[in-house]
Amino acid sequence: MKASKLIFLQLLLILFSCSAVAQKSGKPAIQDNYLFHDAHFHLTNYIQEGTDIHVYLNDIMGDKIGRSTLFGLPLQQQWSYRVTRDNAPTYYLDTDAHLYYYSFTDAFIAMAYKSLSPEQQNRLDPMITGFNPTDMYAAAHIRRVLQTFPGVFSGVGEFSIHKEFVSSKIEGDVASFYDPALDSILSFCAEVGLIALVHNDIDNPFPKPGKPNYLHGMQDMIKRHPKTTIIWAHVGVGRIVAPLKDMLTPFNEMLADPAFNNLIIDISWDETAKYIVASDSSVARTAYLINKYPDRFLFGTDNVGSTSQDKHLEIFRIYQPLWDALTPEAREKILFKNYERLFDKARRDVRAWEKANQQ
Ligand SMILES: [Zn+2]
Repeated sequence: MKASKLIFLQLLLILFSCSAVAQKSGKPAIQDNYLFHDAHFHLTNYIQEGTDIHVYLNDIMGDKIGRSTLFGLPLQQQWSYRVTRDNAPTYYLDTDAHLYYYSFTDAFIAMAYKSLSPEQQNRLDPMITGFNPTDMYAAAHIRRVLQTFPGVFSGVGEFSIHKEFVSSKIEGDVASFYDPALDSILSFCAEVGLIALVHNDIDNPFPKPGKPNYLHGMQDMIKRHPKTTIIWAHVGVGRIVAPLKDMLTPFNEMLADPAFNNLIIDISWDETAKYIVASDSSVARTAYLINKYPDRFLFGTDNVGSTSQDKHLEIFRIYQPLWDALTPEAREKILFKNYERLFDKARRDVRAWEKANQQ
């Protein structure tokens, strides 16, 4: 073989292997390989331990998940020796000891992200969580994180307002819709372009009939901040907090009302899935809503510190009856397109704000 022909063949080989690498890393080149983008993922748990970020990217996301949000947990479970002696709690239900806001989580997430190559970073959207939503200084913390770690974050959250078992365990004030500190956080998100991922239970556990729930407070908050993209995590349900009796009506009304154009609904968490796939009619009602408003929903795992890909993908499999009931367009949007639309915009807006507000 002539030398020139050999060089040409080698070049072809290099080109081919480069494009194979490009498809494996970075922004998905062929989306068909991926099952979904994950709009709700916690790298670390309530004691700030979790998955090594390289393991998460290579082994857990691997070739199944295209892109993923990335956040820790804003709350640290205290190990009070007086309460549980040598039994070290790893979850908030393991002990009566308090939870407290742990701001270092943001530096931890930023440093983990910065340890990655640009192609790997491109698959992740880190979020700021380490602020106390009852503190008028919370927005100053978010600003400081952006200025200390420019080029990293796309949003804030998941942070909680009302959450079963958790809200009352946190040291200090209880979060509230009517706290000006919360308004200052969401106003700052609008100024910067940060997405806000909010956990708020729609009701109390074991509610008495006719008693007010947290739906109206959430609605007031969303309407007060029309320029902030607000993702309502888990459709407002929880372990014990069940869907309202006629859940479809308020969601149908909100999604039809331009006053709620900034509201996106996240169906993450296997505890949420258990209500949605409970029966043929619950699947049909949810599918009806998603098919009617396909731009307004996101899917995520809500897994915490995942250890294996198989376990990590379980919630995607649980939702199979719902995937089957969606139109191809709605399915593509809830699994990929809505994530890309929202987080690509957030990345652009936040980077522009950081550039204009360099220190
Ligand atoms: Zn979560």
